[in-house]
Amino acid sequence: MGALSHLECGLCGKQHDAFALQGLSTCCGKPLLARYDLKAAAVSLTKEALRHRLPDMWRWAEILPVADPTHRVALGEGGTPLVEVPGLGAALGIPRLAVKDEAQNPTGSFKARGLGMAVSRAKELGVKVLAIPSAGNAAGAAAAYGVAAGMTVKVFMPADAPRPFRIECETLGAEVVLIDGLITDCGHAVKEGVEREGWFPLSTLKEPYRLEGKKTLGLELAEQGDWTLPDVIVYPTGGGTGLIGMWKAFDELEAMGWIGAERPRLVSVQSAGCAPIVRAFEEGAEFARPWEGAATLAAGLRVPAAVGDFLILRAIRETQGCAVAVPDEEIADAVQLMARTSGLYACPEGGACAAAARRLKNDGWIDEAERIVLFNTGTPFKYL
Ligand SMILES: *Cc1c(COP(=O)(O)O)cnc(C)c1O
Repeated sequence: MGALSHLECGLCGKQHDAFALQGLSTCCGKPLLARYDLKAAAVSLTKEALRHRLPDMWRWAEILPVADPTHRVALGEGGTPLVEVPGLGAALGIPRLAVKDEAQNPTGSFKARGLGMAVSRAKELGVKVLAIPSAGNAAGAAAAYGVAAGMTVKVFMPADAPRPFRIECETLGAEVVLIDGLITDCGHAVKEGVEREGWFPLSTLKEPYRLEGKKTLGLELAEQGDWTLPDVIVYPTGGGTGLIGMWKAFDELEAMGWIGAERPRLVSVQSAGCAPIVRAFEEGAEFARPWEGAATLAAGLRVPAAVGDFLILRAIRETQGCAVAVPDEEIADAVQLMARTSGLYACPEGGACAAAARRLKNDGWIDEAERIVLFNTGTPFKYL
């Protein structure tokens, strides 16, 4: 079914085998990007065919990595609404404003897309034991999909991670290992188990297929806009998989002849308490220096060093986008504003997008006639 052909190093472009388990590229130690035979895909992936498919992320089967549909581990991920928010739009002076509401995914966040895809592909390639370092939504999604796939799931979590995330993983039957330290220490513990026990690691962009799940965000936005794209997409950036994924999705849609060469300006939003991408963007750098002392209430944005930094920066620059840091107080204010004007109670990362949109409108970077899409990436309830 799928038209997956090979993997490509995101930095140097060297080809790698897509039919063996892969981590980072062996040439550069950078993320691998899945490549497809898009001509072959376009034969059966047509607008007519889409009309007869379920509205979940698997409707894009030809340009997804899972070859055999029986390997899909599906809990209803994707197909989230693009919610018009005229009340918030009026408050921000951006009338044509919409929110892609990713809180409506299984496990309450868009991590369901990435981990649903990565776990399904891992199942197809014979993986039995998964490991992930996470202090938040990625842990719950890895646990849900891993357990549904019949795998053993090991979650390495900082001991001070919010309790709801830990309870969620334990309830789902994952083995939770609490580490007295930071998320980077959890990463080291996973690496050890990978080397010693042969576990398969699911860290952001360190295997190729979480990105392919996140890519469906871009495919859905194009379909929901009847094959026209918004002017600006505002994305809360931690590891950046969603931003890189949408950028990749638009390129694939163009190659299949479904959209033209125009692109939305991609905006990367971070918290002022952890803004390595914003700093690198402003410095004109290709890679981002690690952020010291990262702290923010938007836990999904607390990523001091992203392995896909150069891809995020490329996506922003190629689309004439920008990167914006917003202080935590503005994030909290924006969550309240969105809730009270639109009935949409967002997670802090979603609030960060509204706060950034407000700044960009006030600076004149966003014009009031433009169509803007914000992301609410998850439920607020796990943060309470
Ligand atoms: C993980 C996460 C993010 C950041 O997503 P990336 O793709 O890693 O940039 C944003 N919001 C929430 C709620 C998250 O869980």
